[in-house]
Amino acid sequence: MQVYADNAATTRVSRTALDAMLPYFDTIYGNPSSLHSAGQRAKEALEDARERIAKVLGCTPREVYFTSGGTEADNMAIRSAGAYGLRNGKKHIISTAFEHHAVLHTLKALEKEGFEITLLDVSQDHNVTADQVRQAIRPDTCLVTCMYANNEIGSILPIREIGAVCKEAGVLFHTDAVQAVGHLPINVKADGVDMLSLSGHKFHGPRGVGVLYIRRGLAPANLIHGGGQERGKRPGTENLPGIMGMAAALEEAVAHMAEHTEKVTALRDKLIAGLSQIPHSVLNGDPVNRLPGNVHFCFEGIEGEALLLLLDANGVCASSGSACTSGSLDPSHVLLAIGRPHEIAHGSLRLSLCAENTEEEIDHILKVVPEVVTLLRNMSPVWKDLESGKRQYII
Ligand SMILES: *Cc1c(COP(=O)(O)O)cnc(C)c1O
Repeated sequence: MQVYADNAATTRVSRTALDAMLPYFDTIYGNPSSLHSAGQRAKEALEDARERIAKVLGCTPREVYFTSGGTEADNMAIRSAGAYGLRNGKKHIISTAFEHHAVLHTLKALEKEGFEITLLDVSQDHNVTADQVRQAIRPDTCLVTCMYANNEIGSILPIREIGAVCKEAGVLFHTDAVQAVGHLPINVKADGVDMLSLSGHKFHGPRGVGVLYIRRGLAPANLIHGGGQERGKRPGTENLPGIMGMAAALEEAVAHMAEHTEKVTALRDKLIAGLSQIPHSVLNGDPVNRLPGNVHFCFEGIEGEALLLLLDANGVCASSGSACTSGSLDPSHVLLAIGRPHEIAHGSLRLSLCAENTEEEIDHILKVVPEVVTLLRNMSPVWKDLESGKRQYII
């Protein structure tokens, strides 16, 4: 049996999304900027996709900018707020310690340029509160950027409450909603966000395409310079097949959200209940406010990398955390941020599900993971020390 349980890293492109893309490779292949009829057909499709995405997000089409994905949208949002801050003499930014690197590394770059960054603590309930945000806001704060849901441990942040705090304080609010869009009900106006990033490939659309929503009245900052596409703010010939696939995938995800959430949540809870039986294991992430498809554990006395390789050999594709940091020997910044010690953070496993996963697949995972954990522990000198009492268990 082959089980794909790494949907937080990327998803399969749905049949609907693929079918929506194909004509834009070989039939409607004009450049939307061309004045001839082939170009105008492409332009109409582009604007139709923009309108449909705006409708899902609850904004106007003019507030939708197409990007190359979530990373670019995050960079553009933070750079736009940074430029606004410079114009207004405000150089303080608030974020959280467990953001995606697309946000954290952009903030690091701004720090080098003279901005001051406050990263909120996420050790309580593996989440942040709107109150923490309120207390961190200063007269010189130009931006609060908090992810909608965490990509590693699945915590869903209180975005609406944070949005209200920011509005009251007159501070710009951006959310990296890459893990949330298509999975949770989102409305930019009701959520009170000024900017929102999303990415097609996290909800069964294609890779290499995303959106930055930026509220009307806020000036988007150019990351790159070129032609007049996206009103000059994001130049470069549009990835029309990708955009059409993303729009179709988004509509499909939203249309089936209630039914998918119910199914995936049940699979998730079965998996969490089963894996909790493994001795010296601990669940990471907010146990209540949690993405429907996210399961994340640490197992004492094992190495996550070895666990992943053996799981793969047994037909389970999983991850230790973020796809972006795999291959590095550093433990995940997210696990350190929630207070897991290094020894524990190394033994992590993320299983991220989607509606295509089945009950049989969950049963297979529940059979394989305990076997592999036991096998690895029996080979581990650290585990021997723990069992003999030479070393104290942490969990
Ligand atoms: C995947 C992801 C990104 C990056 O999106 P890309 O489209 O792959 O650039 C950013 N933030 C979060 C939370 C993600 O999960």
